[in-house]
Amino acid sequence: MKEGKKKVLITGAAGFLGSHLCDKFIAEGYKVVGMDNLITGDLKNISHLFKLEDFEFYHHDVTKFVHVPGRVDYIMHFASPASPIDYLKIPIQTLKVGSLGTHNLLGLAKQKEARILIASTSEVYGDPLVHPQSEDYYGNVNTIGPRGVYDEAKRFQESLTMAYHRFHGLETRIARIFNTYGPRMRLNDGRVIPAFMGQALRGEDLTVFGDGSQTRSFCYVDDQIEGLYRLLLSDYSLPVNIGNPDEISILDFAEEMVGLTGSEQKIIYKELPKDDPLQRQPDISLAKEILGWEPQVDRKVGMKKTFEYFKGLTEEELYNSEHKDFSKHNRL
Ligand code: UDP
Repeated sequence: MKEGKKKVLITGAAGFLGSHLCDKFIAEGYKVVGMDNLITGDLKNISHLFKLEDFEFYHHDVTKFVHVPGRVDYIMHFASPASPIDYLKIPIQTLKVGSLGTHNLLGLAKQKEARILIASTSEVYGDPLVHPQSEDYYGNVNTIGPRGVYDEAKRFQESLTMAYHRFHGLETRIARIFNTYGPRMRLNDGRVIPAFMGQALRGEDLTVFGDGSQTRSFCYVDDQIEGLYRLLLSDYSLPVNIGNPDEISILDFAEEMVGLTGSEQKIIYKELPKDDPLQRQPDISLAKEILGWEPQVDRKVGMKKTFEYFKGLTEEELYNSEHKDFSKHNRL
């Protein structure tokens, strides 16, 4: 047994989920090494941790060889663009971080004899023909469509992880993460919750894509982080859905948002993006059974907390509404 505090490497540490994971592991008494290439992440999300002795940050792209000196007990691999607009803009990096990045981290886990948890996604189910989605559903993904760069990278990531588990006996965990929201989402990442909240704060109309009949099931970040933490510490190595089954259509959600923000916005309709899944709801029976976990935060409560966060952004952040410029990262 190694003595002293356990050390966890968190990739994508400056991103939405990564930064909340850093907070969680620090609070649980771990040493945390955060790693991020800062393409989609923002140091602002972890700046409060820099003064801590138990926190270190490496500005590094995990698609390149990953070196961490000393012991590593756990790895949480959360580096990846995560919004459809991001992976349309940086498709090749999206494929690389899910494939080459995962390979590097599995290699590191093997060398350090660390346990690794991989952030997979509900997108492995694609536009699902089975509803709700349980872990034994193989999915319905368009490999060559615009979302394929994310979906297939994540599917490959799961295959590679299981191969390391079976062939090398590596301790692996796979979380299939469903739509999650909360403070530190990037305002202009294009996802529906920051999009609607930004629009509400700027007094703009809410943009519903398609007729809004497509559904999603939104999980508050604190619930998600607790589920991920329990999964890491469990002894279960097959994929587990982590999300909130509280399903709603995007149109109903837009109407709810008008009530929440108290602004008098109209709903306007825009074209539905290609391959946008028509329905999504996690079956979380497995997580309930093996982790004793289920979401606790009601959508209205979580949305209120999230809206408070967005209200705290500066005018510049709010009105600099262009999607982040990735052009300098598009040289491979
Ligand atoms: N959406 C929308 N208006 C927006 C942004 C997104 O109606 O301004 C829709 C989108 O088409 C999808 C759903 O909201 O059906 C959730 O989209 P998001 O990008 O948040 O995540 P996804 O679950 O599609 O990865």
